This record gives sequence, structure tokens and C-alpha cells, in this order.
Amino acid sequence: MIKELLSIVKLTVFQPRCKLCDNILVHRNEEIICNECKSKIKINLEPVCEKCGKLLHINGNLCGECLINPPIFRKHISYSIYEEEIKDLILLYKYLEIEKLKKLIANYYIELFYRKVDEKFDLIIPVPSDDGRKREYDHILEVSKILSKELGIRLLNSNLKKIKKTLPQAGLSMEKRLNNLNGAFKLNNPVEVRGKKILLIDDVYTTGTTVKKCTGLMKRVKADVIVLTLARSI
Ligand SMILES: [Zn+2]
Ligand SMILES: [Zn+2]
Repeated sequence: MIKELLSIVKLTVFQPRCKLCDNILVHRNEEIICNECKSKIKINLEPVCEKCGKLLHINGNLCGECLINPPIFRKHISYSIYEEEIKDLILLYKYLEIEKLKKLIANYYIELFYRKVDEKFDLIIPVPSDDGRKREYDHILEVSKILSKELGIRLLNSNLKKIKKTLPQAGLSMEKRLNNLNGAFKLNNPVEVRGKKILLIDDVYTTGTTVKKCTGLMKRVKADVIVLTLARSI
């Protein structure tokens, strides 16, 4: 009796649960997050601005902002809108489960690449992440390593560096975001990216300040930059 009771307790208490919705993981292929949560994360196929990837609610190819003041990169594309499951998944990946989720996360970028870009590139460059904490892994770099292998594009990791500690961009005004990142990035060897076609990888696109700063450095040496992210704020 006690043994049976214990096994029931063990089953319910120690069953791994989905870290997004807390449902018990019952299927063999489920790890960290359940299949139902996974199925809710889909590529955005709504019309978006051809330049910055913003959802378009009116006819046309470009959003109002890009018509007046187009961003410095050639194009930015996101897998999805930054909300609900993907928002939680990105946080989970970034702060807790880099090792276990990196393949799943990389697959979203790969699907995005083949469906919406599919061009030849010379280099993949990850946006250096530094939130002021010392961590074993850099979540953007880990995913970029997989992308490099799967897409057959050389990874250039040691060139673009973050050289200044900055405040978290979230919660800052547009002007403060720009000032916050002034002088934050540096290309160690600009010659290596001169005239190259570059796939710049980041996780979330909010105002695009970070990727615009990084692109600016590369444009000085006439590189052509396309930015790929997982999710974009509306
Ligand atoms: Zn779930
Ligand atoms: Zn736009």
C-alpha cells in the first residue's frame, strides 16, 4: 500500500513538467516544453515591411517609418511577434536552458532563413550579448554555431565585440537607447568584414537600436547586412 502510494506521489510530483505551461510532459519527444506549447509557436506569414519586418496593416511594401527614415541594414526579418509562448521561450532559453533548447531555437532561425531569405552569405555574426552577468554560455553565439553548420556559412565570432557595459535597453526611451549604446560595440578587425555579405543574428528586435549600431560599424567597410531575429515587438 505504502509502496503504491509512494509510486503515485513520485509519478505526480517528479514527472517533468512543461516550463511554459506547467503541464506534465507525457510524450517521449517532449523535453523542457510540451508539444502543445511548441505548436503555438509559428512563423509569422502576415505581410511585413520589406525593410524592417514590422507588421503592415495597410497596403504597400514599406512601413511609414522606413519610407521616411530607412534603417541602415538592408533588411530585418523576425520569426514571430514578441508575445506569449515565444516571449517566454526566449527568456527560458536565455536564462535557464541554453544547452537543452539551443537546437529547437536554431530550427526557428533556419526555417525563417529558408522561407524568407535563402541567399548566399559570406559570414554569420552574432550580436555579442552582455547583460552584466558572467555566464558560461552566450545564448546568441550558441545558436549561431548551429546556424553556421546547418546553413554552411562561416561563423565570425571574435570580431564584433561589446566593449562597454550598458544599461538594459528595455524601458529606455529611443534617445536613451541610442546614447546607451554609443561606443558599445567595436569591430576588432574591420578588414575581415570589408565588402562581405553578412547575416547578423540577434534574439529580439524592439527598436532595432542594437543591430543598427552593429550594422553601422560594418557599413563603414561596405558590408551588406541582413538581420535575423526570433521575435519582433509590434
Ligand atoms: Zn506547455
Ligand atoms: Zn519598416
